[in-house]
Amino acid sequence: MPLIARIALNRPLRRLFDYIVPEGVQLVAGQRVRIPFGRQQATGLIVQTGVEPPPGVSLKPVFAAMEDWPALPDETVNLLTWASDYYQHPLGECLFTALPPALRRGRKAEEKSVEWWVACDHGEPLPANAHRQKELLEWLRQRHQGAAGSDIIKAGFTRAQLRALSDKQLVKAISPPVPGSKPEAPELLARRPTLSAAQAAAAEELASPREGFSASLLYGITGSGKTEIYLHYLKQQLGHDDQALVLVPEINLTPQTVARFRHYFGTRIVVWHSALNDSERLTTWLKIREGEPVILIGTRSAVLLPFTGLRTIIVDEEHDSSYKQGEGFRYSGRDVAVYRAHLNRCPVILGSATPSLESVYNAEQGKYRLVKLEERAGNATPPIISLLDIRSRPLEGGLSRPALNAIEQTLAKGEQALVFVNRRGFAPVMMCFDCGYMVECPRCDTRLTYHRRDRAMRCHHCDYQTAATDHCPKCQSEAFKPVGQGTERTEDILATAFPDTPVVRVDRDSTQRKGSIQSILNQVNSGKPCVLVGTQMLAKGHDFPNVTLVVVVNADGGLFSVDFRAPEQLIQTLLQVSGRAGRGTKPGKVLVQTCHSDHPLLKTLCEGHYLDIAEQLLSEREESQFPPFRAMAIFRAEADTMEKSLQVLDAIKPLTNAPGIETWGPLPAMIARRADKHRAQLILNARNRKRLNTLLTGVCQELDQRKLPAGVKWMIDVDPQET
Ligand code: ADP
Ligand code: ZN
Ligand code: ZN
Repeated sequence: MPLIARIALNRPLRRLFDYIVPEGVQLVAGQRVRIPFGRQQATGLIVQTGVEPPPGVSLKPVFAAMEDWPALPDETVNLLTWASDYYQHPLGECLFTALPPALRRGRKAEEKSVEWWVACDHGEPLPANAHRQKELLEWLRQRHQGAAGSDIIKAGFTRAQLRALSDKQLVKAISPPVPGSKPEAPELLARRPTLSAAQAAAAEELASPREGFSASLLYGITGSGKTEIYLHYLKQQLGHDDQALVLVPEINLTPQTVARFRHYFGTRIVVWHSALNDSERLTTWLKIREGEPVILIGTRSAVLLPFTGLRTIIVDEEHDSSYKQGEGFRYSGRDVAVYRAHLNRCPVILGSATPSLESVYNAEQGKYRLVKLEERAGNATPPIISLLDIRSRPLEGGLSRPALNAIEQTLAKGEQALVFVNRRGFAPVMMCFDCGYMVECPRCDTRLTYHRRDRAMRCHHCDYQTAATDHCPKCQSEAFKPVGQGTERTEDILATAFPDTPVVRVDRDSTQRKGSIQSILNQVNSGKPCVLVGTQMLAKGHDFPNVTLVVVVNADGGLFSVDFRAPEQLIQTLLQVSGRAGRGTKPGKVLVQTCHSDHPLLKTLCEGHYLDIAEQLLSEREESQFPPFRAMAIFRAEADTMEKSLQVLDAIKPLTNAPGIETWGPLPAMIARRADKHRAQLILNARNRKRLNTLLTGVCQELDQRKLPAGVKWMIDVDPQET
């Protein structure tokens, strides 16, 4: 009797599909296959084989296996099967996220050979009239790593010219360099410190036991040299054949980090992030899958890749909210990393100066080992944080006189200052002072941000944009003015106040071009006096040795938010951005402008002991019965009307009725309309995670059976980051 295979497809369907395994064909779990699907063909992944077909059902046969090896090894299949159940996301879509885009689309699992050319040192002389050949040779000589054949053609040269040079042995074809491997900056090569006693002690603690599962929380204050510890740890821990995974929140923002790893490990370092193109992803994916002993530095989705020899995992800046995927398969890269270490029986290190309350709690519960590093590396000392009450002070571009004076003094000493503004653009609102009109997004319940550089009004929640006007669109009044601070506005004020000093803006707008962040960082790392102004981007892991002053333009945004995570995130951001000050040999100072200098949270900030603050925030969480003391999940709905969204959730609510589980809502989301979708949510808060999981599985199954009104979508978000 023919056996059948259960196959997952890359579709949002909570089911598998059965196909007959053709006679003589061997299939295993994790293997890619081509199958007939409706009138089309589809790429599927085998989940289970050798099942006997139910009687009386006629099934179609699998067309063919796409490789004779499983694209996903057992360990990866097990990981994603767990994640699919934990996050209540369809298994097919979970499994397919572990494939590079090319393989999801059904392409062959082999590298397309890239033709790559470099200039040679010697060769036959060129005839005097071969001008274009000479130009091409010069062009290639300037590119030390060489260039792809296609790029040479794009640059305006011809194949004939290339061939002529090759015949004279002036150029040659080589295998292309590893994606993303750039030569390192010389100043980085010079820096290679030995560990301080405190660092060495922490590294040693982390290094044992070498075998088996263990989870450690490395709490190291900003500038304590965590990266240095990771490097030493990996050197000690990794055997020649081992793979390691280092998760980071955003690679492109911190090219320094990758460069430091390369300096230690050279070509063993490979990277994984969203800016790689499809063929780069395929190349890297194949290395991982084939078990090459790489150290992969990657963003969130790297945790799902099919490693076969994973020996250790590091999650840097583990508190960072970008580890949580915000749509589709809503997993937390950090939490999946911990589970994966458990599956692989290997250690995992979560590192941060401001660990998430979840991780602090897990450390308290003895689930994670807490390793502390409470002094800064080298001769650096922690920055001194003070509050600057701005209630009755005149502000220029959001900056008070004392803040401007402090910047001036810093620059006069030949040092650098950093000004943190939590909004990009010029101003968050344009308002008419005659009729009170404020420009809103036509598609969202939000206001448009004024971007003066491009004379545009933009929505930061959808991609809507429109031209800016000089007068009120409603009453034509000219008393139409920007209200509040954005990075552009602060940049302008700083440029006026310090005309002889470069003012460098760092936000999503100023860093969009490829390489722009690198040139900004180069300028800062040159050490010459400058003022950096920017958003959260500046808070992320940068090491600017000559920044000695940090000014926070306004700290009050998160103080009175209804989101239960807001105080935690506010403190994390403020401490992280503060941590950019005084990392070199000179001491650092932080000025936090606020209208609420007597707010207890801000007062504790100045004492700067994150674990004490975390303790306090945790006891508030316990009192109000929020995570990590409860398990939370949210059913979200989106529809063309709010009524429909609420209706769907109203129908879900009775299904969630169970002991130990509280349900709140349904209520409109914080931003109720976004990109013309009306959004609502139903929050589930449970004493017991297992029971919540079982309940959710049942509810999702039930919902799959039901027919929903047209134009409504529901989603489930387990361990939500946003409420
Ligand atoms: P963190 O990641 O904890 O914020 P980093 O690893 O970026 O800290 O280290 C901060 C700075 O201190 C870097 O410039 C690093 O080169 C330097 N540093 C780290 N360890 C040492 C050491 N043992 N001696 C001297 N400088 C060090
Ligand atoms: Zn008006
Ligand atoms: Zn919008």
